[in-house]
Amino acid sequence: MERVVIVGAGTFGASLAWWCARDGDDVVLVDQFQPGDVRATSGGETRLIRCTHGADADYTRMARRARTLWRELEQESGADLMSECGVSWFAHREAGWEAESLRVLDELGIPVHRLSVEEAARLFPSFDGDDLEWVLHEPEAGVLRAQKAVQTLTAQARAQGARILNARATPDGDRVRAGGEILEGDRVVWSCGGWLAGLFPEHVTLRVTRQELFFFDGGPAWQAAPGWVDYDRAFYGTGDLDGLGVKIAWDQEGPPLDPDADLPGPSEHVERISREYAAQRFPALAEALLTGSKRCRYEISPDSHFIAAPHPEHDRVWLVGGGSGHGFKHGPAMAERITAAWRDGAPLPPRFALGARQYAASLRSAGSNVEPN
Ligand SMILES: Cc1cc2nc3c(=O)[nH]c(=O)nc-3n(C[C@H](O)[C@H](O)[C@H](O)COP(=O)(O)OP(=O)(O)OC[C@H]3O[C@@H](n4cnc5c(N)ncnc54)[C@H](O)[C@@H]3O)c2cc1C
Repeated sequence: MERVVIVGAGTFGASLAWWCARDGDDVVLVDQFQPGDVRATSGGETRLIRCTHGADADYTRMARRARTLWRELEQESGADLMSECGVSWFAHREAGWEAESLRVLDELGIPVHRLSVEEAARLFPSFDGDDLEWVLHEPEAGVLRAQKAVQTLTAQARAQGARILNARATPDGDRVRAGGEILEGDRVVWSCGGWLAGLFPEHVTLRVTRQELFFFDGGPAWQAAPGWVDYDRAFYGTGDLDGLGVKIAWDQEGPPLDPDADLPGPSEHVERISREYAAQRFPALAEALLTGSKRCRYEISPDSHFIAAPHPEHDRVWLVGGGSGHGFKHGPAMAERITAAWRDGAPLPPRFALGARQYAASLRSAGSNVEPN
């Protein structure tokens, strides 16, 4: 049994707390907010879960493993966390991200279909695919109820003995100062989302950005629609899950936003772009009522790869994050890999290490993301 202190109850920290508490560790999970708070990146209602990752077999495998672990969490807790509605990827080219994904998914034995545009159109209540060559459909992908999932991870960790502490923490060597206490552990994890770079500026670089989501009233026909990604045009969305409305999100990297700043209101510019996309891709939504909008933050590492590495000066301290707009689904699988590295010395991918990184194309749903200046 180890004493594990985790600061940050987003998908990465709450998954680690659940995983370690299940293993019988003595866990303290600290967060400045309640788990699932909208100011945390894991706080929104929904996140896509898909194995599709272009040519990248490691993230593909990890997403598949995460799906199994989310299902385990559902069984353990009785919570309904995942809608397996499938995810469709709109391919504008024969070669490219979708073709590479199809090859890797096939090689790994993960269910996937190559659909004609006409076949894909039948999955949606309304669809215009005139600009598409074909569609990749992953039937066992879908949507995670993100906020509920983080709350469930935390509740299950607590049920298995973890202590949850609501306080803002600061590092003190290899210890944690929080709520008037000094916490010590055999492992100390800082999984602080957009706040990680501010806490460890000499080791972590992140771009924290403002992102926006819009929800439309498409009617009941959208309840059964798959999630979807238009990677080359940097849009993604979901059907109407849990009455939230049809979600449309423009996935270009937004303007910088301090992690402690209030989330601003919706911008007319992004609303117009989202409406235009909805009207073109799903014509029946052209006149649909806007039922809501949300803002949230990405914390993007220079190359879009996650961070999971020991602190260079304190080997019991680990820094974890850099979700880069695609981290949610991987939470439990990352916890499994990180603890395997601690306990069995199983290597983590070198690209999760600290240190200088080069800009690389996005691994979220934004193939056409413009490199920031
Ligand atoms: C709009 C949007 C859409 C996305 N879509 C997807 C998707 O479809 N699929 C997908 O897989 N991923 C998606 N992501 C990315 C995913 O949500 C993130 O990668 C992931 O949630 C990051 O989790 P985290 O645990 O690193 O950070 P967070 O969820 O931000 O958690 C960090 C926690 O640390 C706490 N904290 C920070 N500093 C301190 C401190 N000093 N003391 C105490 N507590 C502290 C914070 O309060 C917070 O709760 C999306 C993200 C956004 C914003």
